[in-house]
Amino acid sequence: MNHITNHPPTAEMQATDAAHHMHPFSDTAELNAKGARVITRANGVMLTDSEGVEILDAMAGLWCVNIGYGRSELADIASRQMRELPYYNTFFGTTHPQVINLAARIAELAPGDLNRTFFACSGSEANDTNIRLVRHYWASLGKPSKTTIISRKNGYHGSAMGSASLGGMAAMHAQGGLPIPGITHIDQPYWYAEGGEMSPDEFGLKTARALEFEIERLGVENVAAFIAEPVQGAGGVIVPPATYWPEIQRICDAHEILLIADEVITGFGRTGNWFGSDTFGIRPDIITIAKGLSSGYQPIGGSVISEKIAAVFAEKAGDFNHGYTYSGHPVAAAVALENLRILEEEKIIETVRDETGPYLGNLWRQLADHPLVGEARHIGMVAAIELSPDKFARAPFRDAGAVGLICRDHCFANGLIMRHVGDKMIISPPLVITKSEIDRLMELAVKSLDQTLADAKTAGLMVPGQR
Ligand SMILES: *Cc1c(COP(=O)(O)O)cnc(C)c1O
Repeated sequence: MNHITNHPPTAEMQATDAAHHMHPFSDTAELNAKGARVITRANGVMLTDSEGVEILDAMAGLWCVNIGYGRSELADIASRQMRELPYYNTFFGTTHPQVINLAARIAELAPGDLNRTFFACSGSEANDTNIRLVRHYWASLGKPSKTTIISRKNGYHGSAMGSASLGGMAAMHAQGGLPIPGITHIDQPYWYAEGGEMSPDEFGLKTARALEFEIERLGVENVAAFIAEPVQGAGGVIVPPATYWPEIQRICDAHEILLIADEVITGFGRTGNWFGSDTFGIRPDIITIAKGLSSGYQPIGGSVISEKIAAVFAEKAGDFNHGYTYSGHPVAAAVALENLRILEEEKIIETVRDETGPYLGNLWRQLADHPLVGEARHIGMVAAIELSPDKFARAPFRDAGAVGLICRDHCFANGLIMRHVGDKMIISPPLVITKSEIDRLMELAVKSLDQTLADAKTAGLMVPGQR
């Protein structure tokens, strides 16, 4: 295999990075002091840094490299497409074979009658599209007051103005004047932290019914849609209680508000089915897709809409004054198609559902026996643990996030990418991870947890705090 290995010494690259590159979701001063780790290549589930050190990527990049790294079929397709038609737009009465084929393939795979895709370049853009799309849908039906979108606290829907407003991340809303008007947030179905003395099922019903109260508070004549991730990802891999989604579905049906399932993480196999909506029996009107659609090999996303919505746009909505230069980009579309071919032909999702997913789940749940772990949860190929100073009380740490960060750094030093969200540790490995790679992942995770526990004790961090 040919590697592109020529690069300046690591320190030099880090200095240039610090001088000229502004990183997402980063404290620049802190990062520059430490220096960013330079990743130079990857294969399968393994990354290699500029010092030649190998790291097991248990986050699949940012939840996206579903088929794993190093699939040259995607590189070949991209190269061929760039020579044939590197770019053309789909705005003014034109289309091209790649976007046609991809849209048709997505229609085959997507739940129910979600048969038409509006393309974007990312999940953020697709969710911004969704805001305008659902509002214009209702306006076209003569109900222009139906504009408010209900979302959830601690949800993640992207980082653009609209999508970050849909999200319920307090730290994001604190900067830049968010949320924009017309978006409200209800409680999340996060039983471990917020369920108190209720059973998970009772708590699932309670948090779902918050949607009904919110619709009544706003007046249904003002509500356009509800948006949620089937499993919250960035919020900390929050798997809702079994009672949650059926009740949400009932409420959306009863009040005829549109249900948007943000499948950016849960789409394309993450939960052991093609979509999280399949896993949870959700019947959405729209799904948001990105990440696993191309396994991250090209930036592409989209909004997949039902026949009901498509009919309004086909019959009475007139011009939809919205679009991105790269909507349906031919190279991205070709790469996404090839990615979907590989997911299907290699039965990658079936393997997650029947073999590697249950294998991971079995090992992962045993982490709940570790003295630092208050809960271990898992679905398909995504999982989380809750670190706690008093595991039987589900207590948070007084110094929130400190122990999670220590654990993240130990993982990193041990050659494992595991992300921390406060004091939750989360994984979302490439779907192609093998059983022996899962064994290795678990070994590194346990080692890192042991080191973290020792450090937390030494630093006096094993102190419970208030929720
Ligand atoms: C990552 C993510 C997004 C945003 O996608 P980008 O491609 O980063 O813009 C939206 N929704 C969910 C659920 C995500 O996880």
